[in-house]
Amino acid sequence: METYFIEFLVKPRKSSSKYASAEKITAIGWVKSLDAETALPIALFEVEKDGWKVDKLLTSPKKVLEHDFRSKDIGLEQFQKAQRFGRAFIYLLVDSRVSELTIEEVEDRDEVDIGSFHASRNGLAKKGKCIHFNAGSECDSVINAHSVQKGQSLTKIAQDNHVYALAERLETNGDVLIKKISIHKFSTFKGFCKYHDNLVFEPIDNFPLEPNHQQATLYAYRSICREVYVKENSYRLLSKHLTTFKEESRTKKFIADLKVGTENGLKPLLKKKDVFDSILRNEKFHEIRYVVLECRDSPNISFSGLLYPEFDFQGKVLQDLSELGKNFSLITFCSAPTKSGWAVIFSWHESDDNICFRFIDSLKEVLRSGKSIEDAVFRLVITTCENVAYSPHWWESLCQYKKDELSKYIRLNADPLTPVSSDYLKIGLSGVVSWNFINVYSSYE
Ligand SMILES: [Zn+2]
Repeated sequence: METYFIEFLVKPRKSSSKYASAEKITAIGWVKSLDAETALPIALFEVEKDGWKVDKLLTSPKKVLEHDFRSKDIGLEQFQKAQRFGRAFIYLLVDSRVSELTIEEVEDRDEVDIGSFHASRNGLAKKGKCIHFNAGSECDSVINAHSVQKGQSLTKIAQDNHVYALAERLETNGDVLIKKISIHKFSTFKGFCKYHDNLVFEPIDNFPLEPNHQQATLYAYRSICREVYVKENSYRLLSKHLTTFKEESRTKKFIADLKVGTENGLKPLLKKKDVFDSILRNEKFHEIRYVVLECRDSPNISFSGLLYPEFDFQGKVLQDLSELGKNFSLITFCSAPTKSGWAVIFSWHESDDNICFRFIDSLKEVLRSGKSIEDAVFRLVITTCENVAYSPHWWESLCQYKKDELSKYIRLNADPLTPVSSDYLKIGLSGVVSWNFINVYSSYE
């Protein structure tokens, strides 16, 4: 990750501030980020969180190195601070009485720290309830259900029963992200009781992917149920968090925006779950479409994810996700063991054919244009799915460059301050995996 230098002209947010009479206040920041574009919203957020209003951008984010500050004590100190904490800001004030002074302490910093907010957001899955379509009197005790196939998928990539996965707590400096975790704990969620988990997922937990419509339905269903569980928890937490703010602030706005975003994603998701509940209840598995890409080599990652496809693999818009309350089209993608290797299975309901066909077609277009479809699928998984386990053996075998590249993208996906660009499925992460899809199965054509 690079370090970007940035300057703003700012003024105190509160008119009662002791700095209100200053002629000029400059915010100077050092921000670690993927690129200049991403550094800007992060810097704006930090400055406003420190209690300032931004009047003007004075210096657009520019890449800097440590030796740029070798003769500047304060600059060097801040540069090094940014290496440790990801961000460092100082504020210079000019008024008629003194020529220039550094403001060392910020008076009205927002009371809620985003770091601790993330910690609780990610660590909140404590309580559980069974969300099986027949939940009720049939249920026994809620278990830690796996959202990634464990039997043959997770155990295949594990080393001493451990895999690498995204750490629950996001580090602000972007460096420590991936940690070793027991496969018994990875990607579990308390969304099913033992009875219903065993009953409903038997055809995918105890049998390799053939594939068939029922298995495609179940892989999708498990992805959806986990997401419903996570999003409902987030929504509850965000709502609770918002009540702790006494006054308007940038952090409050940020959390309010996150809440709206979560709600916007949750509503259509609950509708999808209803559709899948009904398919399972009535065994109408033929309403589910799937495309399976099979590899013969051993898997190096295991995952289960879903997506409202916004852009395709060429960067074209598929659907506008900003329209509140709209029933977006959804596609799920999971890794699955097969008899002779492993596969990626894409599944969706036929009511989402329009967008999902176009999404899959754009994946075929990758192939037609001579690019690697394997790289494209890997890119999709890494940039959209947090629920990925990495084989420790494979991760450790990556050269530093690929490890850094991969970590960057994982962070990009995990950081809610980073905007999604239209070409995020088009470029990046080439040649990190050496998969080779040799078989394609599809429920249509
Ligand atoms: Zn149950």
